[in-house]
Amino acid sequence: MTTMRHIVMFSGGVGSFLAAARTVDFYGPDAVTLLFADTRIEDDDLYRFVDDAADHLGAKLVTIADGRTPWQLFADVRMIGNTRADICSRVLKRDLMRRWIDDHADPDDTTIVLGIDWTEHHRFDRVRHRWKPWTVTAPMCDPPLLDKPEMIAEVRRRGIEPPRLYQLGFPHNNCGGFCVKAGIGQFLLLLEKLPDRYRAHEAEEERVRRIIGKDVAVLRDRRGGTTRPLTLAELRRRVEAGGEQLTLDGIDEFGGCGCAIE
Ligand code: SF4
Repeated sequence: MTTMRHIVMFSGGVGSFLAAARTVDFYGPDAVTLLFADTRIEDDDLYRFVDDAADHLGAKLVTIADGRTPWQLFADVRMIGNTRADICSRVLKRDLMRRWIDDHADPDDTTIVLGIDWTEHHRFDRVRHRWKPWTVTAPMCDPPLLDKPEMIAEVRRRGIEPPRLYQLGFPHNNCGGFCVKAGIGQFLLLLEKLPDRYRAHEAEEERVRRIIGKDVAVLRDRRGGTTRPLTLAELRRRVEAGGEQLTLDGIDEFGGCGCAIE
């Protein structure tokens, strides 16, 4: 009988870690591979967590990378990713992981494991369709259903310190707290908690704007009934002038990531 392999799309977040843990609990560590795509702008503590996770689960860890950061990619393609066109997620994660899986596994004996949880279940059918002919599972959509604080507690219960970005208030552990799909709220949090990193992204945005030669930015300013690009530099200046307050009300202010899932 062929042993089923399980390849976990491992983002370095608690959801995909627990999806991997549930898969290991059921099938054993030898049947599980953790596949991690490095965008080169991850938080330092993500790498610690990825290594701890692989050690703890006893599963094989495979790290792959395009080699470019999202900003290097944006400069190459002369566009800045955004909520509607998350080219960084597609090129640096999804397509890269899919190619690795197509080259190294067989749909007849391999299941793809996603970190989607029950709050994102509506995305599962769409994702499953895109993954054909691969079989796809999402163990965190099964009971016991856990919300984010419960997932973080479960990671601790299993003896691993969760990634530090959650403690800082970030909703996910991708790209070091940066995300082109994030809203203004997440960038205000980045500015408050990791100001040097914010400044580095601000400089990268200015560099890519010069290369593209157009008024483009990650964020949009929708005040006053019009929509226009809002640069990270301008957002920071507004904060320094006392015009923007950090509000953590509602995840919508942060925007969704779902990177490496769909
Ligand atoms: S987390 Fe955001 S910025 Fe990073 S690759 Fe995914 S979509 Fe792009």
